[in-house]
Amino acid sequence: MIEVESFKGDTVAVMGLARSGLAAAEALLAGGAQVLAWDDSPGRRDTAQKRGLPLADLAETDFARVKALVLSPGIPHTFPKPNPVAAAAKRAGTPIVGDIELLALSCPEARYVGVTGTNGKSTTTALIGHIVGAAGRKVQVGGNLGTPALTLARLGRDGTYVLELSSYQLELIDRAGFDVAVWLNLTPDHLDRHGGMAGYVSAKRRIFRTRRGNQVAVIGVDDETSRAVADAVSRENSWNVTRISVISRVTGGVFVEDGSLFDDLGRSAEKVMDLKDVPLLPGRHNWQNAAAAYAATRALGLARADIVAGIASFPGLKHRQEPVATVSGVRFVNDSKATNADATSKALACYESVYWIAGGVPKEGGITELAPFFPRIRRAFLIGQAAPDFAATLGGAVPHEIDVTLDKAVAAAFAAAKAERGIVLLSPACASFDQFTDFEARGEAFRALVASLPGAP
Ligand code: ADP
Repeated sequence: MIEVESFKGDTVAVMGLARSGLAAAEALLAGGAQVLAWDDSPGRRDTAQKRGLPLADLAETDFARVKALVLSPGIPHTFPKPNPVAAAAKRAGTPIVGDIELLALSCPEARYVGVTGTNGKSTTTALIGHIVGAAGRKVQVGGNLGTPALTLARLGRDGTYVLELSSYQLELIDRAGFDVAVWLNLTPDHLDRHGGMAGYVSAKRRIFRTRRGNQVAVIGVDDETSRAVADAVSRENSWNVTRISVISRVTGGVFVEDGSLFDDLGRSAEKVMDLKDVPLLPGRHNWQNAAAAYAATRALGLARADIVAGIASFPGLKHRQEPVATVSGVRFVNDSKATNADATSKALACYESVYWIAGGVPKEGGITELAPFFPRIRRAFLIGQAAPDFAATLGGAVPHEIDVTLDKAVAAAFAAAKAERGIVLLSPACASFDQFTDFEARGEAFRALVASLPGAP
């Protein structure tokens, strides 16, 4: 744990006591602050109390005496309407921050890489962390991905934090700044929390807010909004912008053409490596992540050979086109993280022929946008609430069956794929909460079911 000493002797309120909030409260307490911790859930309050954290109902607190409010990123403080505690802090002029801000205040000498975007943040964050670590440098990886920022190890001048940043976390950043800021892409998402697209863009743009000197912005320019952001950021003197693309060449940037990664940061475009040969980064979307990671680690001063070796040895992330096992010649792939049709389209694009398990709680539009991929689906195995709707959309175009639950779908898909030694892909295009607590639980259930098949390793 990192002790946060910048509030020694001050009163600091912590609202939201899930993992990152608990860590923040403990880090502040260890650093000598007077902590007032609260969560609307009695269960969370109970856990906090058992861990020795002082509780105080923040709805009743006079914020005039509170130096800062540390807010969990899940709690709104702007749209659709501010949480009452956040509103009280604002009225009193108390700054509202998040745990990333506390980390930056506590370890100011380390280098910081921030990664944001609508899609690919976790993969890119993990990939950058892997490359830096594999090159023998001190690195800590966390933020929105996995480990809460304040439970990471303390790093000094020779260390690098690689942090995944959601738009909610960026809204809670004030003075925290990044030596390398990665902006992957931007498509409409979470618009209710940001009061529309303009609010979403401006929350994300906070990644470029603080000056540190010699900063590099790595920006994916394959969508219109991100292109405009790259142009705007490059007009600010404090940033050197590296543009990346997987759809066209970018002079002076990093791009992917026919699956090959090119570096045009120097005098001319040079081929760096073939991404088609990297099994754990399949698909064009992952090439964007690889191009961003390459540009970011070049900006950190890593040697090209080290970066290539790091990309090639990336172990991949769980639940994102994760190879689970091969049983009797059938390959099982866990893409449980694909909770909408767009994410599933990325996976389907990677396989010519697939036995597809899908369903759960559907998103608006269902799977109609997947129609171009229907010819690749040998048979669909449908589960959960979405099954009847998905069956109707597949109609006569794709052979399908309604299996209702994942265990039946895995068994049926295995039986169907065996003769062809095919690929069984779980890529639900749905949220999981009709049958599982979250996408991770769904992916773990899939892994366990595959492991229990006859002939499983
Ligand atoms: P995030 O952390 O932003 O949600 P992940 O790295 O966890 O992103 O990837 C989630 C899903 O998003 C993946 O399973 C894949 O379907 C899709 N995806 C990953 N990278 C990209 C990208 N660069 N562009 C578009 N979609 C992507």
